[in-house]
Amino acid sequence: MVEGGLEKSDLDFWFQNLMLASGIAMKGTGTVMTGWKDLPMELLLRIVLLTDDRTVIVASGVCTGWREALSAGLTRLSLSWCKDSMNNLLLSLAPKFTKLQVLSLRQNKPQLEDDAVESIATYCHDLRDLDLSKSLRLRDRSLYALAHGCPHLTTLNISGCSAFSDTALAYLASFCKNLKALNLCGCVKAASDKALQAIACSCYQLQSLNLGWCEGISDKGVISLAFRCPDLRNLDLCGCVLITDDSVVALAEGCPRLRSLDLYYCQNITDRAMYSLARRAPGGAAGLMNLNISQCTALTPPAVQAVCDSFPSLHTCPDRHSLIISGCLSLTAVHCACALHARRTTGALPHHAH
Ligand SMILES: [Zn+2]
Repeated sequence: MVEGGLEKSDLDFWFQNLMLASGIAMKGTGTVMTGWKDLPMELLLRIVLLTDDRTVIVASGVCTGWREALSAGLTRLSLSWCKDSMNNLLLSLAPKFTKLQVLSLRQNKPQLEDDAVESIATYCHDLRDLDLSKSLRLRDRSLYALAHGCPHLTTLNISGCSAFSDTALAYLASFCKNLKALNLCGCVKAASDKALQAIACSCYQLQSLNLGWCEGISDKGVISLAFRCPDLRNLDLCGCVLITDDSVVALAEGCPRLRSLDLYYCQNITDRAMYSLARRAPGGAAGLMNLNISQCTALTPPAVQAVCDSFPSLHTCPDRHSLIISGCLSLTAVHCACALHARRTTGALPHHAH
């Protein structure tokens, strides 16, 4: 976090002196503690960064020296604990903490306005990981600012930011080409096929994408991702009601590293999608580790059993439960290998999948 500076032995020496000074003062000898004033900034940072984010902010206001030290050394900050002053706090902190790489601004009650995000984009050019989830007041201005100011973003969470447009999201994707994890859950306007095509064109390193409840996306968008983002590992399509088998077939072909796929409530999905996944299963323990097909009511037991048999990490047993089929009453006959094994060894009936 802090480059160069003192060796560990020097820091230990300073720390011992500091403790000694404060110890003497506490004994009431009248000795004035001078240690904090002369504290090497590396040690100050080491101490302050062990505390919580509120203390870090308070410490940054103590004096110019402390402010400069924290400004140079602070790379992670969360303001998610802020109940109602997040916007003003961020406006005052962004110019100070210019080395931030990880910033969490998750909100329960919407507080952030575009001016605060613009401030981040103006000062924090090293930002890698930004959580803006539930920033319901933010408009496209924020995404345009981030596109220009924070091109090194690898992780962006804008879940629940329902006001962003797909034009602004596509614009951001064309600048932030290093994105590996993108959470667009509930971004009903932003997550369109057009935006997904732009993301697929620019962000070929994408590994994790959450499109939960983005009801406007169709096979067109998902297929473009499948063929241009070969490293995709986690994809959440829950509630994407327009998705059909064509999306899953494309993912099975284009994304060999897919580990987690959520198709909850994608009711157009049929056995064809399941067989395409099963056919593409790599050998060994690799492959799908989580699959949610709850409420995919058109599926039949042989197709789902084929997927379960092809991926040893998929389980219907209560302990692991990584193949989730709740709401599919016709699938109660599907079981993972453990359940069959238990039946063979004990003669007992397997648990019903749920
Ligand atoms: Zn199992």
